[in-house]
Amino acid sequence: MRVLKFGGTSVANAENIKKVVQILQQHSQSKIIVVISALGGVTDQLLKAASLAAAKDETYKTILTELEKRHLETAKALLPVTQQSSCLSKIKQQFNELEELCEGLFRLNELSRRTRDRIVSFGELLSSHILADYYTASNQSGEWLDSRQLIRTNSHFGNAIVDFAATNQLIREQVLQSTSPLFIAPGFVAGNKEGQTTTLGRGGSDYTAAIFAAALDAEALEIWTDVTGMMTADPRWVNSAKNIANISYQEAMELSHFGAKVIYPPTIQPVMAKQIPVWVKNTFAPDEYGTLIQNTPSVEGEIIRGISSMNNVALLSLEGSGMVGIPGFSKRLFEALAEEQINVILITQSSSEHAICVAINAVDVEKARHAVDLTFEAEIKSGKVDPLKVELDLSIIAVVGDQMKSHPGISGKMFGVLGRNGINVRAIAQGSSERNISAVISLSDVKKAVNVLHEAFFEFEYKQLNVCIIGVGNVGGKLIDQLAHQQKYLQQHLKLNIRLAGLANSRKMVVKEDGISIGNWKEELEQGEKMDISHFVNTIVSKNLPNTVFVDVTANADVAGIYDQLLAKSISVVACNKIACSSPYQYYQQLKSLSREYNALFLFETNVGAGLPVIGTLNDLMRSGDQINKIQAVLSGTLNFVFNNYDGTRSFSQVVRQAQAEGYTEPDPRLDLGGTDVMRKIMILAREAGEQLEMEDISNTYFLPASCFEGSVEDFYQEMEKQEPHFKALYDAAAAKGCKLKFVASYENGKAAVGLQHIPPASDFYHLYGKDNIVLFYTQRYPEQPLVVKGAGAGADVTASGVFADIIRAARV
Ligand code: ADP
Ligand code: ASP
Ligand code: MG
Repeated sequence: MRVLKFGGTSVANAENIKKVVQILQQHSQSKIIVVISALGGVTDQLLKAASLAAAKDETYKTILTELEKRHLETAKALLPVTQQSSCLSKIKQQFNELEELCEGLFRLNELSRRTRDRIVSFGELLSSHILADYYTASNQSGEWLDSRQLIRTNSHFGNAIVDFAATNQLIREQVLQSTSPLFIAPGFVAGNKEGQTTTLGRGGSDYTAAIFAAALDAEALEIWTDVTGMMTADPRWVNSAKNIANISYQEAMELSHFGAKVIYPPTIQPVMAKQIPVWVKNTFAPDEYGTLIQNTPSVEGEIIRGISSMNNVALLSLEGSGMVGIPGFSKRLFEALAEEQINVILITQSSSEHAICVAINAVDVEKARHAVDLTFEAEIKSGKVDPLKVELDLSIIAVVGDQMKSHPGISGKMFGVLGRNGINVRAIAQGSSERNISAVISLSDVKKAVNVLHEAFFEFEYKQLNVCIIGVGNVGGKLIDQLAHQQKYLQQHLKLNIRLAGLANSRKMVVKEDGISIGNWKEELEQGEKMDISHFVNTIVSKNLPNTVFVDVTANADVAGIYDQLLAKSISVVACNKIACSSPYQYYQQLKSLSREYNALFLFETNVGAGLPVIGTLNDLMRSGDQINKIQAVLSGTLNFVFNNYDGTRSFSQVVRQAQAEGYTEPDPRLDLGGTDVMRKIMILAREAGEQLEMEDISNTYFLPASCFEGSVEDFYQEMEKQEPHFKALYDAAAAKGCKLKFVASYENGKAAVGLQHIPPASDFYHLYGKDNIVLFYTQRYPEQPLVVKGAGAGADVTASGVFADIIRAARV
């Protein structure tokens, strides 16, 4: 004897029901019981019709008409015309009854739990009759069983408790006396002693099947559904969820208890007691293995079996100083909840006994509040206990596996991953069986939590990084090219999968959970929404994607001004934009502490020397206990280019124009030539060396005449042309001494300065060509001979690669 249960999707329409019958035909060698759900979605519709009728809303009639049509059409599509009449009249008769019941609700303006069960039971009654008629119509013998007569429950309508002694006897009497090779029974429905219809809870057809299996000592129970077995996470949320081939009863129970909808939680209990193996199979891929649930010893190496989650959870906290050391508080709390039939999902109590915290289904909150406050009325009045504290909009996530108990570090890993992704944990429970660790988190974080945990425990292949880039000009464009080019390498060597999740320029923005096609980003961006920086950030934050990195490749102050919001959401920030780090010290400091507090990285290597490892080197020196005595540097690729190329043969203005044309300058070259850019860079280095500096603390001996700072960029070029003798004189004065002109930045004894200097041939700075930068770190460990970082310090390619390196750092692979 085997028991097969088919869920709502498996019998959603005639085509699917035919698949079910094909599966049944393959089982013809043994006696079978088929338990079936209502056609997919029907239970919800019946509940809706009942509520509408009781609320005096006539649209319930439309729902019933549509449902009737759907059932009639399904029967017609399955049965030959000559054999339709009895089935169709049964369907019509059942809808007449339904209409009468709903009319009664409409008149009374009220819906009792008992009537609701009557109404909702029609879903399974209809589907099982259609299947039975179709099965017998194809010349196979089958018998319809009335589960309402066979499964005996108490009168807790909506979630009735089974009387197993009576039920087992009723089932055995009925089934064992019959010679029929196959029985078809409606799932979900049952009956009380008085013969009234009850139901076993939403999703309860699985349970019906388990009850039949246990009563009849079946050799196996098969749950046929729309996925290939139990999976490591809900496949609707985690694309890479994997099939679980073997799982123990306890693990399956834990996963389903905490939300793995594929099996209704009470299902396991009766079959486990009889050691009946359970298969979970896919109606739409019957040849696939599926999942076998039994008393298996766990497979070596698989510590965690799955991750599940449950929404609509509320957290109740009973707190008060009067609770400490006095026994009986928890007993009274749980009794109060039990009397109201409130199911407790999770319990925690701190060792101080100052508070007991329980998670329940949010629909029960008001009942719970009332019951608990009433129970503790006296203590609340005397101030020993506070009124019940209730928190809503929560979820529970659970990590499940039999082997957890013998492996340290699972909870460390779990909470580490949640923390790194900015997911706040409200309560934690670990069963003493150590088969599950569960945590209460905000509802808005649950999808992200399941994904990052799945990644940490099951995806050994890849870590998924979600990158959002703002600024797609010179550097941004190169960066995207580099990302595209390196994708394979990163997958192979770092096991890192980079997904372009967001993109924006000054006009347009696009954020896509599933990623923007890296080969088609320009078109996707063009088709995006109108750019608005707050909207861009809010969209990124609201998507709540795991492992997110925000990359700023603009020079925009508004963008720099929102890093704090991102870091506070645990989104790492990679900035090529120098404005944040060179803004008032207080903001720079705030970003650094947000980064620490929310475990998100704030990286800006390209703020100084483009892709050169300047800041990283300085950080490494500091972290390893070195101290910076002095920094001397040539930090402007632009100024180097200009002074390396200027000797009076072409005008200074022309050389600057060339630098701009070749992409070495800021859009307004005065930021470079006036020294502001270099001031920012030396300030950032000084700050990273531990100095609290502001821009006004840095001295700058300007070489540009004041008149050059007036007007537009074009005015500036013309003014330089007029000032050519001034520039020539600067050059000649240096050349006369055999020196070159370099714009040097220095930091020593808490002071920073920038300015044009005459560099003699013996200096480290003399042989500095093209757009090169150089930084000399004089430290306690490098007192006389400095640590030198030198190389190209400007250019889109090297800057993009520096940003790229920061992105990889932010991935923490
Ligand atoms: P049925 O109608 O067949 O009873 P359900 O909808 O009740 O089917 O359950 C199957 C669904 O459970 C799947 O479609 C899947 O989305 C969901 N599900 C949630 N968690 C898991 C999991 N861990 N493994 C497999 N499916 C899961
Ligand atoms: N039809 C019922 C429900 O949707 C029972 C089931 O399908 O298991 O909850
Ligand atoms: Mg189900």
